[in-house]
Amino acid sequence: MACDPDAEMVGEGKEPVPAEVSEAIRTLIRWSGDAPEREGLIETPERVARAWREYCRGYHDDPAYHLSRIFHEVGGYDDVVLLKDIPFQSHCEHHMAPIVGKAHIAYLPGDYVVGISKLARVLHAFANRLQVQERLTSEVANCIWEHLKPQGVAVVIEATHGCMTGRGVRTPNVIMKTSRMLGVFRDDEKSREEVLKLISS
Ligand SMILES: [Zn+2]
Repeated sequence: MACDPDAEMVGEGKEPVPAEVSEAIRTLIRWSGDAPEREGLIETPERVARAWREYCRGYHDDPAYHLSRIFHEVGGYDDVVLLKDIPFQSHCEHHMAPIVGKAHIAYLPGDYVVGISKLARVLHAFANRLQVQERLTSEVANCIWEHLKPQGVAVVIEATHGCMTGRGVRTPNVIMKTSRMLGVFRDDEKSREEVLKLISS
């Protein structure tokens, strides 16, 4: 099935693409072995340019902003909050190839909780940039730790890397798993075991 070349987000597609950006993409097409003048490729440089602005929209999204509305009223709740299987896409900074996977974000509240969708927004704000999975994992955990001031944070990310499946060793279906534990999930073995069990259940 062909992709829909003109599928754009509402309001997108109007941003002018500087000539040097289009030219760079034409050069890349030539370098890849095709002819940028070919009919099917004529508008591709502008589409690619706008697509990259969208893939990298995280550079214009402050992750901490999503944690600026926190709630003090927790109704006596003092157990782990887990958002599981959050799908995300990112791009590796070494090959600009897709990283596709899912993240699990858990925290043990201190005095504050946050709207649960905000945890996913923090993830996407960091993921929609050029990344390495290890740093993405740390950045999400550190941001929640710093701004929500919980007793513990656990972030586990599982992803496949386009630069491994489509090039290089060409190994499909290999999943890379990274985790970052802070607070009680780092210091207390029992708490860590509990949260990991919750994530993997
Ligand atoms: Zn890579």
